Amino acid sequence: MNIDAALLEGIVKKVMSRIDAEADGAFDSLGIFEKMDDAIEAAAAAQRKYLDRSMADRARFVEAIRAVATNEENLAFMSKSTVDETGMGNYEHKLIKNRLAAEKSPGIEDLTTDALSGDDGLTIVEYSPFGVIGAITPTTNPTETIICNSIGMLAAGNTVVFSPHPRAKKVSIWLVRELNRALAAAGAPENLIVTVSEPSIENTNIMMAHPKVRMLVATGGPAIVKTVLSSGKKAIGAGAGNPPVVVDESANIEKAAKDIIDGCSFDNNLPCIAEKEVIVVDSAADYLIFNMKKQGAFEVKEPEAIERLAALVTKDGKSPRTEFVGKSAKYILEKAGIAAPDDTRVIIMETKEEHPFVQVELMMPILPIVRVDNVNEAIDMAVRVEHGNRHTAMIHSRNVDSLTKMAKLIQTTIFVKNGPSYAGIGVGGMGHTTFTIAGPTGEGLTSAKTFARRRRCVLVGGMDIR
Ligand code: NAD
Repeated sequence: MNIDAALLEGIVKKVMSRIDAEADGAFDSLGIFEKMDDAIEAAAAAQRKYLDRSMADRARFVEAIRAVATNEENLAFMSKSTVDETGMGNYEHKLIKNRLAAEKSPGIEDLTTDALSGDDGLTIVEYSPFGVIGAITPTTNPTETIICNSIGMLAAGNTVVFSPHPRAKKVSIWLVRELNRALAAAGAPENLIVTVSEPSIENTNIMMAHPKVRMLVATGGPAIVKTVLSSGKKAIGAGAGNPPVVVDESANIEKAAKDIIDGCSFDNNLPCIAEKEVIVVDSAADYLIFNMKKQGAFEVKEPEAIERLAALVTKDGKSPRTEFVGKSAKYILEKAGIAAPDDTRVIIMETKEEHPFVQVELMMPILPIVRVDNVNEAIDMAVRVEHGNRHTAMIHSRNVDSLTKMAKLIQTTIFVKNGPSYAGIGVGGMGHTTFTIAGPTGEGLTSAKTFARRRRCVLVGGMDIR
């Protein structure tokens, strides 16, 4: 979509004035509550009412969510607001991500029934709701995760309490309100989707401990995933990644370079699936780097400049500095005092395996390249630097043995062969999308059925028509 700056400003002003008009104390409406306990009680009452609704109703409510998130004004507003509020990411790419979440997150069709009939009668096994789900959402994809989780969780018959990242509070609250407004218009019970007016770690803790919250879903870094897994409740953890890309001598190198730069630069490298380091066999390395530069990569060669960059964007080489997460390549280079063309998309450099750029999940368009002698070494290194996250990895190769070997050894939830990382979430690759990729707990690319319980219903005798 092309939307000019003046039009965008107009949309933002219009929506902001509506938010201001509503903000005068009306927090007990449209799913926003001052107290977390009240939000949960409301979601629990709503879930009871929701049980009486038909599958056709659920399908309509899912469509209402999709309609909110694909409305052009809403898309423009939430994408711009997210960049403004979090200071992270790229407006045009957020448009794509929000639309993707709205259009390709599965709805009720995901909830298939298993049936068994025979002399003893008929048994069905169906996906039933958990009840109230507590969902914790990240700064990196705040609205995408709310859209995608809302679709899947409501399709499965649940209600949801969101605990957004405090740094994405305004846009998250705005979205929850808009979803409630649309759900009300579609005839849904009130409070199927709720949150609090002041998201905080304290409120998240209240939510995690509340007996009426029956399932927890955490999309974020290792700390929050560990916390939900220690909660004593059914928990889904969608945690950190550090996706490596292997390139061997059999690959289509020109295409590999394009795919890698496209994937790595997407939303300034915020997606947890995005290419974070390249491991390339020596004989293909020079040509790969040459082609990456043709795709908008800028190579930093001097060791001193590489170390200056590392000191700037990491905290002692151990974690990324938040103020650089999701910033553009050009911005980062400017802050490091390095002159580069305006259209620079990704900063590349050659490093050793031990370098923090390889080891740390940076979430910025900085892409280290490590040379190795052969594809077996490359695969072994990729397994090491993925750190057992079981998240995402890529390979560019036309050697079936190498493709198979890496898939088996790395055991990531998403494994993309000969494509950009986002092919793994349904952009130019087959399959549905999700913004909650549950590696640690094994549900994989979550969808409605992930947020449901398996229940068996047995009718004894009869109903067998064979
Ligand atoms: P983050 O861990 O800082 O925050 C995620 C959420 O957890 C936020 O809502 C935050 O408020 C909450 N939180 C964090 N620590 C908490 C604590 N101790 N107690 C209570 N609440 C707590 O992550 P972020 O910076 O927002 O997002 C980036 C991280 O999330 C990256 O590591 C990225 O890989 C990961 N991520 C994973 C997926 C996935 O699907 N696997 C998707 C998006 C992001």
